[in-house]
Amino acid sequence: EASATIIDGKRVAKDIREEVAVNISRMKDNIGIVPGLAVILVGDRKDSATYVRNKKKACDSVGINSYEIRLPEDCTEEEVLNHISKFNDDPSVHGILVQLPLPSQMNEQNVLNAVCIEKDVDGFHPLNIGRLAMRGREPSFVPCTPKGCIELLHRYDIPIKGKRAVVIGRSNIVGMPAALLLQREDATVSIVHSRTKNPEEITKQADIIISAVGQPNMVKGSWVKPGAVIIDVGINPVEDPESSKGYRLVGDVCYEEAKNIASAITPVPGGVGPMTIAMLLSNTLLSAKRIHNFS
Ligand code: NDP
Repeated sequence: EASATIIDGKRVAKDIREEVAVNISRMKDNIGIVPGLAVILVGDRKDSATYVRNKKKACDSVGINSYEIRLPEDCTEEEVLNHISKFNDDPSVHGILVQLPLPSQMNEQNVLNAVCIEKDVDGFHPLNIGRLAMRGREPSFVPCTPKGCIELLHRYDIPIKGKRAVVIGRSNIVGMPAALLLQREDATVSIVHSRTKNPEEITKQADIIISAVGQPNMVKGSWVKPGAVIIDVGINPVEDPESSKGYRLVGDVCYEEAKNIASAITPVPGGVGPMTIAMLLSNTLLSAKRIHNFS
């Protein structure tokens, strides 16, 4: 039985972080500038706190200064907007990110709109998404998780141009921008979502599948065309009495089945997951380079 190439996101992410670190020290030596990333965390969601902690650690490891603002769950939208406005004007800050989701009393749209697009390293500003969707326009930044998916394809020399790609999921942060990116790379793109009938008939035609759903083992081996490339964004906890935590993480794709059918596949964990933060660091470096005209 043929076995797929395992796309090692952990290794690629490490390579990217090293490249970023080298560039940052070169920048510091040449023009005395250290890139800075500001992170705003509202409320006390444990998962959000973990993500923010990991982002800060990653910044430290490559030499990016990080500035963290923690606000209580019941703070006002105005307070968040004030912090964003200060960071927009602060020359030591090159990237601003607001950890999502925000508490329900806040309007996410107002908050994302407030980040100046030159510092929008998450790529969630509607102007950046709009540019991503338009021919002949360049977004300042592309959202990190879908950018990481495409980067994995590039680094494994997987051709995209002219290929049939299917993206499963259409969220603003993953599925939709992933589909736009694939289209920019000249793939022919279909989008499968919760209202799609017979999704397997569509995925079976795909040369490239990017799945960002959040349903464990939804994509069966029978959904996959022999030789297809699978990028599995899903991170889903499933019960596992043998694990010390009582659960383990799996993707959207039934890995054991798909790995014998696909030509290449990302594991979960260790596939797309580590790429998101690597892309955030890379976007922050890019921003600092642009702002200070350093190449
Ligand atoms: P959302 O819940 O925002 O979006 C899920 C999408 O999947 C929706 O578009 C939904 O369709 C679609 N969907 C849901 N059920 C089905 C179904 N049965 N068949 C087809 N489509 C379906 O999730 P996110 O995009 O934020 O995240 C998706 C997954 O990726 C999650 O597991 C998340 O943990 C993971 N993730 C991983 C990241 C990383 O690796 N760093 C970063 C971000 C997310 P509809 O639009 O019709 O509702």
